[in-house]
Formats: sequence, structure tokens, C-alpha cells
Amino acid sequence: MKDQNCLFCKIIEGDIPSSKVYEDEYVYAFRDINPQAPVHVLVVPKEHIASVDAVDPGNSAYVAKCFEAIAKIAKAEGLVSGYRVISNCGEDGGQTVMHLHFHIIGGVKLSEKIV
Ligand code: AMP
Ligand code: ZN
Repeated sequence: MKDQNCLFCKIIEGDIPSSKVYEDEYVYAFRDINPQAPVHVLVVPKEHIASVDAVDPGNSAYVAKCFEAIAKIAKAEGLVSGYRVISNCGEDGGQTVMHLHFHIIGGVKLSEKIV
């Protein structure tokens, strides 16, 4: 199910261009337009799920597929020494696009640990 007003749904549909790094039946992944590290990939479910807060038993399989994709993408991107996965949720979490996404950040020794 797509949301016609959603930026990432439009990217998944190919209506807005993106730099694709991975795609399967459930997941689409592309490079962030404003990278915060040498590798900065966004992994999104092909189902419109607004955020982590909207994950439920009916759509959580998409989350599992996202994480399977994350492991594959990290290997393909050569992130052998590790990386960080972030999902900002809601206003206080700093989420700016209301379609669930996981940032893969890596390619450099990361600092600024929040947790
Ligand atoms: P968040 O702030 O966690 O919601 O993350 C949204 C991310 O989407 C930001 O890191 C933006 O740089 C990224 N972004 C916004 N528009 C695009 C786009 N057209 N293509 C790729 N990344 C985008
Ligand atoms: Zn969407």
C-alpha cells in the first residue's frame, strides 16, 4: 500500500529519482541525499509504514526484511568493521520523512554515542 503524498513511496515507485543500492520484493534502499558519513544508505519497506510507532503484527515482517537487507547491504558496502543503524521516530526523535526508514551509517569510525 502506497501513500501518494509520501516522498519515499514516490522514490520506491520511481516517480522521484534515487541512487538505488538494493531492492527486493519487500525492501528498497538508496543513498541519502545528504550523507552524514562515507556510507549513508536509507533502507525502507515497500509498504507505507509511517514510523517505528506504527509497526504492528500485521506489518512487522517488513521490519524483519529491512534488517535482512541491512546485513546484505553492509557487506556489499564493505562495512567490515561495523556501522550504525538508526531510525528516528516522531517529532522528538527528529523524524522528517514519515515513512519508516533505517539509516545505515558507516565507512568511518563513528563517535557521538547517544546510547
Ligand atoms: P529522518 O530525518 O530520519 O526522517 O531521515 C530522512 C532522511 O531522508 C534525511 O537524512 C534526508 O537527507 C533524506 N532524504 C530526504 N529527501 C531525500 C531524497 N530525495 N533522496 C534521498 N534521501 C533523501
Ligand atoms: Zn510512504
